[in-house]
Amino acid sequence: MTTPAHSVLRGTPVVPGVAAGPALLVRGEVSPDAIARFGDGDFADADAAMAAYDDAVAAVADGFARKADQATGPAAEVLTASAGLARDKGLRGAVSKNVAAGQGLVTAVDGAVEQFVTIFTNMGGLMAERVTDLEDIERRVVAHLVGEPEPGVPTPAEPSVLIAEDLAPSDTSGLDPALITALVTERGGATSHTAIIARQLGIPCVVGTAGITDVGRGTFLVVDGESGEVEVGGDPAEAQRRVEASRAAREELARWSGPASTSDGIPVKLLANVADGPSAVQASAEPVQGVGLFRTELCFLNATDEPSAEEQADIYASVLGAFGEGQHVVIRTLDAGSDKPIAFATLPGEENPALGVRGLRLSFGNPGLMDRQLDGIRIAAERTGTETWVMAPMVATVAEAADFAEKVRARGLKPGIMVEIPSAALLAHRMLEVVDFLSIGTNDLTQYAMAADRMATDLAHLTDPWQPAVLQLIAITAEAGKQAGKSVGVCGEAAADPLLACALVGMGVTSLSMAARAVRPVGAQLSRVSMDTCEAAAEAALGASDPMAGRDAVRALLH
Ligand code: PEP
Ligand code: MG
Repeated sequence: MTTPAHSVLRGTPVVPGVAAGPALLVRGEVSPDAIARFGDGDFADADAAMAAYDDAVAAVADGFARKADQATGPAAEVLTASAGLARDKGLRGAVSKNVAAGQGLVTAVDGAVEQFVTIFTNMGGLMAERVTDLEDIERRVVAHLVGEPEPGVPTPAEPSVLIAEDLAPSDTSGLDPALITALVTERGGATSHTAIIARQLGIPCVVGTAGITDVGRGTFLVVDGESGEVEVGGDPAEAQRRVEASRAAREELARWSGPASTSDGIPVKLLANVADGPSAVQASAEPVQGVGLFRTELCFLNATDEPSAEEQADIYASVLGAFGEGQHVVIRTLDAGSDKPIAFATLPGEENPALGVRGLRLSFGNPGLMDRQLDGIRIAAERTGTETWVMAPMVATVAEAADFAEKVRARGLKPGIMVEIPSAALLAHRMLEVVDFLSIGTNDLTQYAMAADRMATDLAHLTDPWQPAVLQLIAITAEAGKQAGKSVGVCGEAAADPLLACALVGMGVTSLSMAARAVRPVGAQLSRVSMDTCEAAAEAALGASDPMAGRDAVRALLH
């Protein structure tokens, strides 16, 4: 099917802004002709075939490692992980077995990858997401074997809109925002790799856009990262006018310098999500009032053994030390397990890790793990003098919250919990009887409310925080905070969406924590609307029939 010459497609908007340019399609597959010419590879024996495999793998892994050196933060971590996955001994063993059984090398690689894809898919969570990476590795290895360039993003001759089914981290990490003006994918949701990297780069991005891969190479596209509309074959002069207007609006946003409040002066705390000391230092340069989510587990992704309390304190102090007077830092205790496997904490072999022993639950069978972490946090808080709040992830019951709060208070710190499980939202008023604050993790709250894996690209329409049922849980939680006079923040991706941020504030949410880069657009948007309008936005979003209708209704109210 081809897309009509002039039409408008619609997907999920994830990074606002208007951009235009010719469609640039990601080179997805190795040419079947090249594979056919290669055939069985004409190797003297199985050892020679495996030597060719090893050379191809080394080239692919070195390529990932080079890109990792040029990247920072999550992109660098993902690329390093991809390099490791390419060199995986288990994968090599499976290829070698297939070759020994008489298969041609390309067939042997395909069969081995297929075998691992099945295993990863069955494991679910982050491992399932690694299927995209594994398939990407296969394409690259096969390209090397048959003597073709590695698939990926071609370098365009002019600034272009990048189109893909979905993007692997290796595709997105080296993107040059001067040459790639926008990203549009057929699949993927608001928490996909594509969305995360696009947010980092600040490139307008629309995901889950049915039909986009049917547009022809070079077709002129206008991408609106706020409405989710992708105009196919529009008028270039009109597009240029929209792009200029959007650029001017974004420049104005960048000048916003906080502190945040609505147009009628109701203050809203804007905070940063950070992963380590360097990201905290970076965030402290933005107009934030501290950190609303320090994901401590991200410091230990490569650790094989649990660091001592003192070692942990050094890491935590590097984050706390970046903030001071009038600011505070919310440290989240280890959220290991499921999509964030940590060698020294995660339980192996769970059937359904997203519903298994993750987050706070890991401390039930290993209380020392929590005690040592809280000791490390206490030492860091005392050393830096920064106001430190501590919250637990994946809290399901009031008893869990009370138990956690007691441990945190015993160390002179302020206890809170994340609201990620619908049970915690429904009992928010009782949770607030035992803790001092709540922080809504909309990524997991959406996953658990909608029973849809946050990593499943085919379920992106469900894993959307604009789903009215998710908003209802947020509204219940915010109302409980208002009644108790305690702070209720949002620290999931929803907080970074300027439109949704207004609706959240209208529900009674008192702080929003997000990637540092998202702070200025959210702050600027809030400064333009009154609390009455925020409340009307909340009502409109809650009453909408689906996420798209909610976005449209709120946009109409705010503009
Ligand atoms: C969330 O679930 O919304 C959250 C902030 O936690 P994480 O994304 O780290 O699971
Ligand atoms: Mg979470």
